[in-house]
Amino acid sequence: MSTNRLCPMCKSDKITLWMGGFTGMIYRCPDCGYVGPLVIETSDETPTDDKRTG
Ligand SMILES: [Zn+2]
Repeated sequence: MSTNRLCPMCKSDKITLWMGGFTGMIYRCPDCGYVGPLVIETSDETPTDDKRTG
């Protein structure tokens, strides 16, 4: 089982760990420029954790 990390802003899977240290993990998304501690973690390829709202 593997865990994928997605950008919370644009859902990009290119988000990478930018900096980790005393204050915790900070991630950075090259697609939208998001930088922060929040990421969407999904197991495998079925993100059923999210509910679509219109
Ligand atoms: Zn992004």
